[in-house]
Amino acid sequence: MLRFKSLGSGSSGNTTLIEGRSGTTTRRLLIDCGLGIRTIAERLGEAGNAIAQIDAIFITHEHSDHVGCMEKLALRHGIPVWMSHGTYTAIGEPELHGLLRIAHHNEAIDLGGAFEALPFAVPHDAREPLHLRCSDGSHHVAVLTDLGHASSSVIPYIAGCQALLIEANHDVGMLQSGRYPAFLKRRIGGANGHLANEQTGELLRAINHPQLQRVVAAHLSAENNRPELARVALAEALDWSPDDIDIAYQRGGSPWIQVG
Ligand SMILES: [Zn+2]
Ligand SMILES: [Zn+2]
Repeated sequence: MLRFKSLGSGSSGNTTLIEGRSGTTTRRLLIDCGLGIRTIAERLGEAGNAIAQIDAIFITHEHSDHVGCMEKLALRHGIPVWMSHGTYTAIGEPELHGLLRIAHHNEAIDLGGAFEALPFAVPHDAREPLHLRCSDGSHHVAVLTDLGHASSSVIPYIAGCQALLIEANHDVGMLQSGRYPAFLKRRIGGANGHLANEQTGELLRAINHPQLQRVVAAHLSAENNRPELARVALAEALDWSPDDIDIAYQRGGSPWIQVG
């Protein structure tokens, strides 16, 4: 069994909890620490968990809405932290006292037998960003919050998943007509920025298959998107009803999404 829950997603901070269970073994992985330490503790509590139950942390890339309180959380609770070497360099190589684990593109991380996490490279304006596909052998989920375009290189990693948490950052019209300065519009809309709703739809169209049961739209811009626009664009790509698309909100996150 695999399940995940966004604890909060958006430009102010991102954290996702993934839990795998096999027999009597349960393992929990926290993807990104972009929410403050107190918020993470509170939202884990609401989800029926505590920081002490987290087995490992995975940091996708160096942007502050993802790294957040990683150092404090890891050191205070002795939790191992996985990230790419590029991410580690980009955050200034903090002393993690033996807790650092270097992740590589396409090299699986074993989460103590309950499930494995496979990091994969994505196009984004960070040093060496990696996102994750998690599998318990028969069930697969992928979490990808920051990528600049619907790159065909990510399709093999998200294909065949029963559930996805995927970025739907902005509506192109809202971004273009919005109040952001031109340079920021270019960065967000560029090939290494963030996915527009239509681009997320493009990826979903490419991987649409009968096993896909749940899709959570994440990293929505509070300024340049609205949940209903993301829902409509993603549902249209899958030929689903907009109500079938879940949203990971900045405050509140997403519901638990379980496969298996
Ligand atoms: Zn980013
Ligand atoms: Zn981000």
